[in-house]
Amino acid sequence: MPATHEVFNQPAPLVDVNLFAGNQPLQAALAFNAPALDTAHLHALGQQVGSADMQNHARLANVFTPQLKSHSRFGHRIDQVEFHPSYHALMTAATAAGLHGTPWAQTRRDAGPPQGAAAPSGGSEPHEVGSVGAHTLRAAGFMLFTELEPSMLCPISMTYAVTPALKDNPAIYQDWAPQLTSRAYDPALKLWKDKAGVTMGMGMTEKQGGSDVRANTTQAVPDGSDGWGQRFSVTGHKWFFSAPMCDAFLILAQTPAGLSCLFLPRVLPDGSLNQLHIQRLKDKLGNKANASSEVEFTGATAWLVGEEGRGVPQILAMGTLTRLDCALGTSGLMRHALSIALHHTAQRSAFGKKLIDQPLMKNVLADLALESEAATALSLRLARSFDRSGDAHEQAMQRLLTPVAKFWICKRGSHFAQEAMECLGGNGYVEEGGEGIMARIYREMPVNSIWEGAGNIMALDLLRALRKADAGAALAHELAPAQGMHPALDHLAASLPNRVELMATEMEARRLAQDVALAVQAALLAQTAPAAVFSAFCDSRLAGHWGHSFGSLGAGVDFDAIIARAMPT
Ligand SMILES: Cc1cc2nc3c(=O)[nH]c(=O)nc-3n(C[C@H](O)[C@H](O)[C@H](O)COP(=O)(O)OP(=O)(O)OC[C@H]3O[C@@H](n4cnc5c(N)ncnc54)[C@H](O)[C@@H]3O)c2cc1C
Repeated sequence: MPATHEVFNQPAPLVDVNLFAGNQPLQAALAFNAPALDTAHLHALGQQVGSADMQNHARLANVFTPQLKSHSRFGHRIDQVEFHPSYHALMTAATAAGLHGTPWAQTRRDAGPPQGAAAPSGGSEPHEVGSVGAHTLRAAGFMLFTELEPSMLCPISMTYAVTPALKDNPAIYQDWAPQLTSRAYDPALKLWKDKAGVTMGMGMTEKQGGSDVRANTTQAVPDGSDGWGQRFSVTGHKWFFSAPMCDAFLILAQTPAGLSCLFLPRVLPDGSLNQLHIQRLKDKLGNKANASSEVEFTGATAWLVGEEGRGVPQILAMGTLTRLDCALGTSGLMRHALSIALHHTAQRSAFGKKLIDQPLMKNVLADLALESEAATALSLRLARSFDRSGDAHEQAMQRLLTPVAKFWICKRGSHFAQEAMECLGGNGYVEEGGEGIMARIYREMPVNSIWEGAGNIMALDLLRALRKADAGAALAHELAPAQGMHPALDHLAASLPNRVELMATEMEARRLAQDVALAVQAALLAQTAPAAVFSAFCDSRLAGHWGHSFGSLGAGVDFDAIIARAMPT
């Protein structure tokens, strides 16, 4: 073919960059929430997840999606899911980075170093449990890894989240804890104690109800007891059951005393396969590298966790942490989309200027940068509360901010992704064999808002949280450091405790969740961000100098300062 044209004005991809070193808002949030933290591990992880090699694994894991192998070629039921080697490479890296369990590792050195698991290149190891900021450190790592590949983090997140709930069956927890916190990834389907590391999932949602799990029909019949406590035989189904190749699950089922939380392993202690059958894998909008399934239990063996009949609060101890991860995950995705948009517009020219220098594009990019930094600040502030759960104020904020952050940050995600995609023009909308990272981000965004409690459920949960604690006073205490720094924030802060005490009706719950989120985000930015970011956030989100789309910040905003702070390199 004779050359028809020269290719120019097409940007280079954003690869081989340190995603931590270039993320000023994340570093500022860490310095605020865990000032004593050693971030060497995050520097190493940032380098690893920003590498072209790992990004190629992410692409392949999304192009070659999981396949269900229900039967062997000889007709035996095997209920296995087959993954591309790149999926396993990503799981190995996430587990080695400790994203699934480091904060819970009591004697991690006894459990490791794991066989065959590569540590993040050149980095120190994450902190031990009890050290200052273990959850915050892990949260920052989770955000960074989300920029590489979010969907395979589903089992990583569930494994992290399971510990507080599982501890209520001390015998099982004692047996499983070493493998749950080991930094080895071991995908083999075999007895937990023969494995270098394990993962866990959760099964609540049934066909007739996901938000209202009290409608669960799965039955658990008493089946004696043993060293792991009361045993049950489980018959029924789960309509959504992500990561079915996990080694065990916490599920909800109806026992004689009501809905209860049960521990259901895939391989039973005698080495036989449990009666858990994968019906099919879900064909999803996004979240492609993660297998989500429908399953049936036909007399599966499970053990009681916590009090019989109190299954919902029991499993919600797990749900609280997965909700934290939804907020962290969306914040990571926002940061990734923003970085790509900034990187692209800094290289692409139109109408005689780099796009990033066109005034209206500056407005779009700066507005996205404000949203991304506010999401990062709120997510990490929530993570900090899990490090300090002995402190009454932190307990109150954990209860209050979990639904608030999950609701607001995840709600903003899809809109954010669409706008960031548009910064790339047509290139943003193209898949191109999985190279279209923006398309992947856009397809991933809605799931964090839906699973683990959809938007309305989170807003209603906030109302429940307000009923219990002295929430108005806790909120006022949280906002106090920013008092006098912006009139619009002062105005909102003054009205919120009263609205909280009056307790909004269900009809107003979303509005209240939004306003609590914005007030806390603004107060955090007052303490962690430059004045240009804080004032533009308050002017736009709180004082009304803003339109209904991104890119409608008012005049007087220091666009260049906001963009410079957000640049990924
Ligand atoms: C990819 C994916 C993976 C998943 N993986 C798992 C998994 O591993 N384990 C698991 O247990 N579940 C899983 N889920 C299920 C998920 O948690 C549920 O889909 C979710 O909780 C919503 O439940 P539902 O689909 O039954 O919707 P519904 O409960 O029918 O809710 C539909 C809508 O109604 C709203 N709504 C409900 N009640 C009220 C009310 N009182 N007032 C106002 N609005 C209300 C909800 O906010 C929602 O917007 C997964 C879902 C997806 C998409």
